[in-house]
Amino acid sequence: MGNPSKLSLYNTLGRQIQPFVALDPQKVGLYGCGPTVYNYAHIGNLRAYVTHDLLVRTLRRFGYAVDYVMNITDVGHLSDDADEGEDKMVRSAEERGKTVMEIAEFYTQAFFHDTEQLNIGKPSVVCRATEHIPEMIELIKRIEANGHTYTAGGNVYFDISTFPRYGDLAKLRLEELKTGARIDEDSNKRNGGDFVLWFTKSKFENQALVWDSPWGRGYPGWHIECSAMSLKYLGEQFDIHAGGIDHIPVHHTNEIAQSESATGKSPWVSYWVHNEFLVIDRGKMSKSSGSFLTLQSLIDEGFHPLDYRYFLLGGHYRSQLQFSMEALGGAKNARRSLGDRLRHLASLCDDIPSLGSENLSQGPANDYLERFNAALGDDLSSPRALAELWGLIRDPQVEPREALAAAFDMDQVLGLNLAEEAVYDANAGEDPALLAQIEELIQERNQAKGAKNFARADEIRDQLKSQGILLEDGPKGTAWKRASL
Ligand code: AMP
Ligand code: ZN
Repeated sequence: MGNPSKLSLYNTLGRQIQPFVALDPQKVGLYGCGPTVYNYAHIGNLRAYVTHDLLVRTLRRFGYAVDYVMNITDVGHLSDDADEGEDKMVRSAEERGKTVMEIAEFYTQAFFHDTEQLNIGKPSVVCRATEHIPEMIELIKRIEANGHTYTAGGNVYFDISTFPRYGDLAKLRLEELKTGARIDEDSNKRNGGDFVLWFTKSKFENQALVWDSPWGRGYPGWHIECSAMSLKYLGEQFDIHAGGIDHIPVHHTNEIAQSESATGKSPWVSYWVHNEFLVIDRGKMSKSSGSFLTLQSLIDEGFHPLDYRYFLLGGHYRSQLQFSMEALGGAKNARRSLGDRLRHLASLCDDIPSLGSENLSQGPANDYLERFNAALGDDLSSPRALAELWGLIRDPQVEPREALAAAFDMDQVLGLNLAEEAVYDANAGEDPALLAQIEELIQERNQAKGAKNFARADEIRDQLKSQGILLEDGPKGTAWKRASL
């Protein structure tokens, strides 16, 4: 089956679903705002990256090569998305008694460990803010040369009154932004919406990372990094910019102002794709408040990372998604049934089909694939795409082998390891040393329980759980299984 062709995306710029037309028909440039690495990513942040991944995989399915660039914010993101508060990285480093670079490295690794477990593909370019300070300085110089800046109180500000399109993305009114004052307003600002491009003075004297610049020794404002790095890696105009909806009114609005006033080209980005929030008990999950769920905390509860991926795909990226352990439990059960069904289909086949669907150009399996593609092409409707997968594997009219081949093909976008699920065999293929270790620990636990040493028994269960091994006590003794299935 050839590449599907009808792809439409909701564009925040214009607030409507539009047919996707790439600047270069072969290749798409995509920039996604990456993490601020002062703490672990929370599961809300990870929703943003699963959305980026769904977008990248869908673009590939529609025949595009994708240049996917992601930044790592390791300097300049203040505790407020505008210019208020302390640098998040500096504060985290102080609290933990480490250097900013140590903190950045640790949480960057942790972030990619999470994304790998969620089957989120690596971006083509991962770029760190601190490694692009010269590019940021050059960009600020261009914005300055074009008359969009002023210096006050030692800092370089962007003057929004010089950029009439300011606020178009967020449908903000420039007049109100010019006058609107915030309570803790920076008195250096000419307009309420002006923002800092380069700090040489901040309220905090402890800025750990500073660089020389034409405006004095200091550090960049948060927004400039994304303009500088996307311009560097994707050119002066590119196709898609992605991020969470919280970035619309400040961060992305400011990115557009910076980039377009430097290059004089508009639109800088053709399509803006924003994911809605993951919420818990109707509240916002916030990394800075410190109370949030990480992927590891879900694993500790006995979930497999792909249970969370499945849960996320079950909601449309533009709808708010309510998280609860019960809802995640539902996703886990659904994924387990999916695996059971695939294994059943596999048991009916002489051999398991390999990836791809070249031979499925006709027939009922192909109908499911076409509807699956149509769902993705309709603004990335992953819930409808999943429904097509379920329809396919339950349909008695579809030959088991064809159903598996089509399911594996769908999995190139879903990323749920369906081919592995289909051949998964409880304990087969396990490392014999691991099997022996588990058996030994189960025996020790039984002895501990016999001796009423429940603390030791629980400790053993928890130790195995942290290795992804779950124990189940039953009438015939203790069985174990992997947390995934
Ligand atoms: P940060 O590391 O804070 O810069 O955020 C990383 C990404 O996560 C950004 O694209 C945010 O818009 C996004 N984000 C933050 N909180 C949530 C949430 N609760 N649900 C979905 N996306 C979020
Ligand atoms: Zn950004």
